[in-house]
Amino acid sequence: MKRTLVLLKPDCVQRRLMGRVISRFEEKGFNIVGMKMLRVTPALARQHYAEHVQKSWYPGLEAFITSAPIVAMVVEGPDAIRVVREMVGATNGLKAVAGTIRGDFSSSRQMNLVHASDSPESAQRELAIFFQEEEICEYTPLMSDALRAADE
Ligand code: ADP
Ligand code: MG
Repeated sequence: MKRTLVLLKPDCVQRRLMGRVISRFEEKGFNIVGMKMLRVTPALARQHYAEHVQKSWYPGLEAFITSAPIVAMVVEGPDAIRVVREMVGATNGLKAVAGTIRGDFSSSRQMNLVHASDSPESAQRELAIFFQEEEICEYTPLMSDALRAADE
């Protein structure tokens, strides 16, 4: 089991798409083991997007990500970091493949609804930014037997 950080960005909240995006991960069979709504501050934006702070488009990204609340989630499942990233799709909604979240709901390069960690290292770093260990709610998913074979 792997854990990854998913953020429902301000456009997802403003467009009332939270439920539909959350459902994608639930329907896939992943466990949501952490969730909170918060307002991203400029300092938190710089920490989370540290690799982009020097880019010319960073000020626009910071204005966007701080413009309304976000929802942060811990999504857990087999190979979750890779699979969630693939479910989210390419950065630019106009290039993301249909069937991905961005491909189905976004027509923007910046306002692309969802963030997902891009590697195990990113997941570890980003989960620690948004969640304390005690805020993660482990539980036994009762439907596991209906989702995967015992040896998967
Ligand atoms: P991803 O979210 O797919 O990992 P990046 O890490 O490249 O994408 O960028 C982080 C976020 O910054 C993107 O999700 C998007 O909201 C925004 N972004 C990326 N590239 C641009 C750009 N050229 N102009 C404006 N915003 C951008
Ligand atoms: Mg990225």
